[in-house]
Amino acid sequence: MDGRTIVPATLLLVIACGDSTPAEDLTDDLADDADTGTSEGTDEVESESESDTGPIAESLAHEIDISLVEINQGIATPIVVAGEWIGPNDRNAQIVGNRDSLLRAYWTITPEFEPREILARLTLEPPGEDPVIREQPLVIDQESFAGDLSRSFTFDILAADMRSGTNFSISLWEVDPAFAALPAPELPPISPRDGSIAPIGIQPELLTIKVVLVPLVANWPNCSTEVPIDEVLGRFHDSLLMKNPTQTVELAVREQPVVVDAAPVSFWTLLPAIQQARVDDGAEPNVYYYGIVDACTYELAGFGGMAWNIVSDEKTADFERVAVGLYLANDLEWTTDTFVHEVGHLQGLFHVECPGKDAAGPDASYPYEDGVIGVWGFGIRDFELRSPTAAHDFMSYCYDGNWTSDWTWSKTFNRVRTLTSWDAEDGGGPSQPQGTLLIGMLGDQGGEQWWTIPGEIPATNLARDRVHVRAFAGDEVREPNATWHRPPEGDATIVTVELPGAAMPDRIETFAGPPAVWQPRAIDRD
Ligand SMILES: [Zn+2]
Repeated sequence: MDGRTIVPATLLLVIACGDSTPAEDLTDDLADDADTGTSEGTDEVESESESDTGPIAESLAHEIDISLVEINQGIATPIVVAGEWIGPNDRNAQIVGNRDSLLRAYWTITPEFEPREILARLTLEPPGEDPVIREQPLVIDQESFAGDLSRSFTFDILAADMRSGTNFSISLWEVDPAFAALPAPELPPISPRDGSIAPIGIQPELLTIKVVLVPLVANWPNCSTEVPIDEVLGRFHDSLLMKNPTQTVELAVREQPVVVDAAPVSFWTLLPAIQQARVDDGAEPNVYYYGIVDACTYELAGFGGMAWNIVSDEKTADFERVAVGLYLANDLEWTTDTFVHEVGHLQGLFHVECPGKDAAGPDASYPYEDGVIGVWGFGIRDFELRSPTAAHDFMSYCYDGNWTSDWTWSKTFNRVRTLTSWDAEDGGGPSQPQGTLLIGMLGDQGGEQWWTIPGEIPATNLARDRVHVRAFAGDEVREPNATWHRPPEGDATIVTVELPGAAMPDRIETFAGPPAVWQPRAIDRD
């Protein structure tokens, strides 16, 4: 048993996601920004208007154009560039329905532009409903800048209004009657330029990420701790939500903790218990299990966490959706970043390379140098911007300015969409795996654990990590499916064998692939 005690789960406590209140905060926050940006000019112009003899006809703004319109739900996604609408298939990333969003419009001005107040008019046309017009006045005295919310026209769109099929148009208008009286501008500052009302291009799919946190109780000499889970729940929820293209994050806490009563030398000794908890709970295939432990240390064998694998999007990979990480009482941000990073591996993400950090197996197709995120990021819960050249992708080891790139966003969108779609399938619920898996966890510094669970090896794993083995059980010799892989972090190797028949093999020999002879001794966990 290696000093581990496993207590079966009886109940899961689900915490509220609390999506509505922060959204209202977003509205207030942005309203404050808009007030600040326009306080100098609005009243003055109104009093001038009132003193005029008659109403001035409306006029589009002069010597200014809309250079770019984008939606930001976490990362910037341009939808109009220089007047030309960008269709969903030509974008850097997907726009999620029913998620709080910013619509930002940037301007460019000619040398002749005189600083003054300009009005942006946004038309939103929900499917089958009358258009809603929103206006935002702004004093413009310099070029716009993506790194400052007050230097773009910035409209918040709450989740309920981000519906698939919603169309938009945005245009700039004169506020000062003297400018409104000028001849119409040659280049109408309207996006899209042709004056059409174009689709925002909002994805229609349901998108949910489900995670069960498994508290680990440390109970060995010189370390007796329990993780104060309430301290991290809100952070975990908001960080996962902000960095992932999802509508909701369902974060639950396993009521029964896992008690660890021998000091772990590495995370690989903890990971089996998290997987066993997942099996014992009969978790649905799309649920991630994350163990969290205060191990009275800043690292175990040089790492802060460990995910089972770079996990595929197959239901049969359910048993791999497990990870474990440290809780650091004096660094909850690091604790949270580690959680999002390890879940990222379970979402199929490889590492992203960044300077001075040696993350194993970085993804060579990552498009930006030094692991930076490449586009402006924005947090829909903390309302902060992230620089495209200073913030780093959360799959890198550069935790400074830890955020998501549009590249990672696009990948995780597909993953969240696939896993969420399983909820709607007939016979949803726990999978009924055929067969039995024999799993071996082999530490680089010695030590190993073997155990069995119901399951089969996912096809992706067989294609990627197949190892040819012979399993000897008495007189019987078989060649079962087997894989051999390294977890993305950590100092261990994981062997997975589809058990041929009911008999536990006496030994397993590889005959193609890594040379080894294993003598598994499956652990009876009951
Ligand atoms: Zn990693």
